[in-house]
Amino acid sequence: MNEPIMPMTKRDLLSMIGTAAGASAMYMAMSSMDQAKASDFKGPPKLEGDNKGASVLILGAGVAGMTAALELSRAGYKVQVLEYNDRVGGRSWTLQGGDTYTELGGATQTCRFAPGNYINPGPWRIPWHHHGLIHYCHELGVALEPFMQVNYNAYVHNTKAFGGKPQRYRHIQADFYGHVGELLARSVNAGALAQTVSKEDGEILLEALRSWGALDRNMRYVKGAASSGRRGYDKEPGGGLSAVPEPSDPIDVQTLLRSGLWRSIGGNLQWDHLSTIFQPVGGMGQVAKGFERAVGHMVRKNSKVTAIHQDEKGVIVTYKDTKSGAVMKAAADYCL
Ligand SMILES: Cc1cc2nc3c(=O)[nH]c(=O)nc-3n(C[C@H](O)[C@H](O)[C@H](O)COP(=O)(O)OP(=O)(O)OC[C@H]3O[C@@H](n4cnc5c(N)ncnc54)[C@H](O)[C@@H]3O)c2cc1C
Repeated sequence: MNEPIMPMTKRDLLSMIGTAAGASAMYMAMSSMDQAKASDFKGPPKLEGDNKGASVLILGAGVAGMTAALELSRAGYKVQVLEYNDRVGGRSWTLQGGDTYTELGGATQTCRFAPGNYINPGPWRIPWHHHGLIHYCHELGVALEPFMQVNYNAYVHNTKAFGGKPQRYRHIQADFYGHVGELLARSVNAGALAQTVSKEDGEILLEALRSWGALDRNMRYVKGAASSGRRGYDKEPGGGLSAVPEPSDPIDVQTLLRSGLWRSIGGNLQWDHLSTIFQPVGGMGQVAKGFERAVGHMVRKNSKVTAIHQDEKGVIVTYKDTKSGAVMKAAADYCL
């Protein structure tokens, strides 16, 4: 018998992309599916309903839940937040050296980082267009600093290329731009673009390619001052008994193309991930701490919501105290 074909939801598709290719790829896919849009935040919401004094239960003390708690309480609602974890912040979370974490499956891990080092297991970047979060960071005293989106001296790696030896990002980028620049310049000079680019514009394009690709005076990307000025020298100029620099060898175009490492460069060129990007000083957990200072007293931690019942009188939420095991109920006019 044939299995029924289940339709795939957008969420299924994004989960598959996230699992196979990681969070960045998923975010890019979300952007292209119009699922991750730039914020049109112009300021906190003006909540001017006539429900002052009404009660609201908010489920989850992530950034969304705590933002809602902050604004609804300011608007005069009685707010309670139920949070499963024994901390607030949800995925906005930072693990410092010495912290331990027990996963749902029971495995406990201890972070053995040097003092001051940390890891954000979830989000780490606050792009420039996240106006809402940037606003709340300012308001809640969460210090931000620039996030280094591209490290040109980092290594990129493909186990099947260069004998598995990692390559400098700047080598791959400089050599890729250089070779592409040279190939395009050759096409211009061979008249291959004559239909598209006028003679005058072709001259401008050649000049631009020389600069963009670090080409030499003959429009070639070869070992020399131009290419080494971009990718780095074997022996840097200046100082010592012999100040003569030794240029480095660019990777040849065939090896570079076949390595696939060109895939590693330019991944941050989508408009929504362009500089300037921020991060909280001390990690994303500082965002949670900022909100906690403002709304922490409204949050009941260790409270796992198991059921929501709504009728004409309001909402009843059933939750379990994860420390004591006690099953409790909370009632409110509204639930978020
Ligand atoms: C790996 C990764 C990287 C990311 N990187 C970035 C980034 O760099 N920049 C960026 O802007 N975004 C990033 N994101 C997205 C960002 O983390 C989310 O958009 C954001 O955390 C969502 O906040 P939230 O409050 O909606 O949900 P959450 O942070 O998930 O909060 C939900 C809360 O509800 C609680 N909860 C769940 N179920 C129950 C229950 N039954 N009872 C009680 N409480 C419950 C949870 O414990 C949690 O505290 C990333 C996400 C991931 C996973």
